[in-house]
Amino acid sequence: PRNGFCIANSTFYSKRNPLQFPANASLDVTTFISSQTHRGTTAFIDAATGHRISFSGLWIAVDRVADCLYHTFGIRRGDVVLILSPNSISIPVVSLAVMSLGAVVTTANPLNTAGEISRQVADSNPKLAFTTPDLAPKLAASSAAISVVLTEEDDDYKRVGSALGVRVVGNLSEMMKKEPSERRVRDRVDQEETAMLLYSSGTTGRSKGVISSHGNLIAHVARFIAEPLEPNQTFLLTVPMFHTYGLLNYVMATAALGSTVVILRRYDLHEMMAAVEKFRATSLVLVPPILVAMINGSDLIKAKYDLTSLKTVRSGGAPLSKEITENFIERYPTVDVFQGYALTESNSSGASTDSVEESQRYGSVGLLSSGVEARIVAQDTGRVMGVNQTGELWLKGPAITKGYFRNEEATKETINSQGWLKTGDLCCIDDDGFLFILDRLKELIKYKANQVPPAELEALLYTHPEIVDAAVIPYPDREVGQFPMAYVVRKTGSFLSEKSIVEFVSKQVAPYKRIRKVAFVSSIPKNPSGKILRKDLIKLATSNSKL
Ligand code: AMP
Repeated sequence: PRNGFCIANSTFYSKRNPLQFPANASLDVTTFISSQTHRGTTAFIDAATGHRISFSGLWIAVDRVADCLYHTFGIRRGDVVLILSPNSISIPVVSLAVMSLGAVVTTANPLNTAGEISRQVADSNPKLAFTTPDLAPKLAASSAAISVVLTEEDDDYKRVGSALGVRVVGNLSEMMKKEPSERRVRDRVDQEETAMLLYSSGTTGRSKGVISSHGNLIAHVARFIAEPLEPNQTFLLTVPMFHTYGLLNYVMATAALGSTVVILRRYDLHEMMAAVEKFRATSLVLVPPILVAMINGSDLIKAKYDLTSLKTVRSGGAPLSKEITENFIERYPTVDVFQGYALTESNSSGASTDSVEESQRYGSVGLLSSGVEARIVAQDTGRVMGVNQTGELWLKGPAITKGYFRNEEATKETINSQGWLKTGDLCCIDDDGFLFILDRLKELIKYKANQVPPAELEALLYTHPEIVDAAVIPYPDREVGQFPMAYVVRKTGSFLSEKSIVEFVSKQVAPYKRIRKVAFVSSIPKNPSGKILRKDLIKLATSNSKL
């Protein structure tokens, strides 16, 4: 029943073509991707500079960088390499090179503060970091031991380094030009070995490293080979490449398929629309708030830009309502809206709408990906539910992570002994196998699809001398999806204001994590074991807003 929609034992199997990938135990994901044959010519284009890299150029660069990593910097299997960079061609080159050695890629959000990055560095312990001169100072606090390679052209990078407060040991453009000196003895990399650590807070607590094995990533890429995207696509990428959405789909899968990806360094509505026109992009890859911005600015956008090349937009990373989809289609009737649903923990596999017909089930995120099995489980009773019934979505399959890096407790909470990943999303699956995401049960807040773990903000609020207790919840917003709102219990006699709390937090976190609303209460509702009753607070916040 594996290649049909089937609910045997109340497990939902994918309707898509079955996955096929080599069973040989030793295969690294870079070799798997580079061995795919396709007719694509241009791999990546930098939208700002127009700089392009062909597929043959990409694989030469990957090999040269891998060679330097091995010989010059002594990177070996299992060593961690950090990439801290805005979207750029350097991300595909560096990440594919690192993984080809059996070393491990980790990424950080460039918007994060030096403090937030140093916590992640302490957790993953990278041996080398690739970053830009602008971002290098963010590593200064944590990087006594990290050596830094700058990813932007600079003749005098060693001198630049000391000015930035970090130890600069190299420059990516030089590495990409250097002929490999000796033949590298290739280590045999096992599919079971770790290839990547991307950070996610999962269902609860702080951000944690999600272990992606080579086998997980090969399974993810194989999904696109089982169900190829339309050929000759030019994708315009606005979503970050440090996140699973950008990195696994629009660096790795597209490289295997031979599609062209135009890279926007950072999102700006007008730069994005100008790039669609200039590069004749056929598909825009974005998050729901950008769809909303395109709806709000539709008159101006349509008057100013030639969008005749654009066939689809692909939305993922956060909920996209039926209403917003319909609004968008009304304004851009020649463009179809495709959706994808996934998690960092599922290595970007989950569900998606892949055809015009599928995309017209507005409100659904589509059919389960190739190789993915699902269960819908009642939260209170643990009962496994059937078609059209609501419960928490559990996922299983070869792309799903084995767990969190050095965190057995969180791993056990998230993945059960039979290998089911608890997504923390409230879902149902209809008679045709279409998945609907109805609500988020886990505490995670998504501001413009960026992860905001409430536990991090609560920990900060607890350090304020006039705050006795606090809870942070998502507050719904049409433009950004959700923003963090804090419920705060002040010390007796304190007149601490909303403004000063907002400022206290803003100084210490990345802009997307800022608390944007505060309410004062006399106590935080908790269950007998001390867990915050977030659903009660969410109900309170949203019912107050309607008054
Ligand atoms: P991340 O690990 O940052 O990719 O976050 C994964 C979470 O984002 C999921 O568990 C969902 O809560 C949410 N999410 C991702 N894609 C969608 C979507 N298409 N619709 C609704 N929620 C989504």
